[in-house]
Amino acid sequence: MKRANMAFTGIASFGRCPVVQPEGDWKADFAVLGVPYDAGAGYRPGARFGPRSIRDISTRFSFFGGAGNNGYWHIGDKKPYLADVAVVDAGDTDVLYLDVDHCFESIEESVRSILEHGAVPVILGGDHSISYPVVKAFGDSQKDLAILHLDAHLDFRDELLGVRLAHGSPLRRESELPFVTSAAAVGLRGLRHNLSDYNDALESGVVVVPASEIHENGLAHVFDILAKTWEKKRPVYVTIDVDFLDPAFAPGTGTPEPGGFTYPALREILKFAASRYKVVGFDLVEVNPMVDTSQITALLAAQAVIEFMGFISESRKSG
Ligand code: MN
Ligand code: MN
Repeated sequence: MKRANMAFTGIASFGRCPVVQPEGDWKADFAVLGVPYDAGAGYRPGARFGPRSIRDISTRFSFFGGAGNNGYWHIGDKKPYLADVAVVDAGDTDVLYLDVDHCFESIEESVRSILEHGAVPVILGGDHSISYPVVKAFGDSQKDLAILHLDAHLDFRDELLGVRLAHGSPLRRESELPFVTSAAAVGLRGLRHNLSDYNDALESGVVVVPASEIHENGLAHVFDILAKTWEKKRPVYVTIDVDFLDPAFAPGTGTPEPGGFTYPALREILKFAASRYKVVGFDLVEVNPMVDTSQITALLAAQAVIEFMGFISESRKSG
C-alpha cells in the first residue's frame, strides 16, 4: 500500500529526517542536535523542553525524502531550497541535573563528532549558556572564527558569585576562546544591561548593534556594519536567541523584551549572513514551551532553522 505520510504521523524527529547517533556511521550536510538543558536560566526555566517542542511542530516541514518530499519551493524567492540536501537528527545531548561539567562535556563531544562527519551542526537549545560548549567544539577546525550573536541581550556578564557559565555569559566566554577572533551582537534592548559589561564587550572588540539603531535606520544598517566588519566568505558561527524577536511573535521564551523584531527581519539577516559568509554552524536557543502560546514560538523556531539551512546550502552550492 502506498503511504500518505501525513505530517502528524510517524516519529517526530526534526523534519522527520533520519535519526542517527552523533558518533555513529552516517553522512549528511546538516545534523540537528537537541540540547535539553536550562540550568543556566536566571528567570523562567523550561527551555529544556525546547528541542522536543520544536521537533514536534517541525514535522510540518518534512522535506527530506522520508515523506516523499525533496526540499521546498519558496513562493517569494521563486526558487527551490534544500533539494538533495541530506539532514539527519542526531538526537539530544546527555543531561545530568546539578552536573554542569557532565552536560557541557556531552555537548562538546556531540558537536565535535558532527564536525568530524563533515556536517554543519544545527543546535536546538536549551538556554543560551549551551552556545559556549558548542562553540568550543570548533577549536579543532577553526583558527579565525567570528560569532554573530542575535539577541535582545548582550550576554557578556563575567560572573555572578563565581558562576561563569549561565545564560547571561555565553558571548563573554566565547570571546575568551583563542580561535574566536571577532563577534557582533545585534538586536540588543531591554533595561537589564549594565555599563561595565558593555564597556568590556567594546574593549574585547565586540561590535554592538542595539535594537533602537536598527528600528531607526533599517536592516541596511546591520548589513553595512557587518560588511565593514567581516570580509566575504569568512567563517561565522551564528547564535539565535529567540528573544531577538518581539514577544508578540515569540512569546515562548524565558526573558522576553518588548521592542524586538519580526520573523521577516530575522529571515533577511540569516539570508544575508548565509550569502556573504561561510556559516559553519548555528544554534537557536531559549525556546521555552512552558510559556509558549499555541506552539507559535516553536513553529517560528522550526521555520527559521529550515530556512537558514536552505540559505546556507544555497550559498555553498553557488560557491
Ligand atoms: Mn541570550
Ligand atoms: Mn536574550
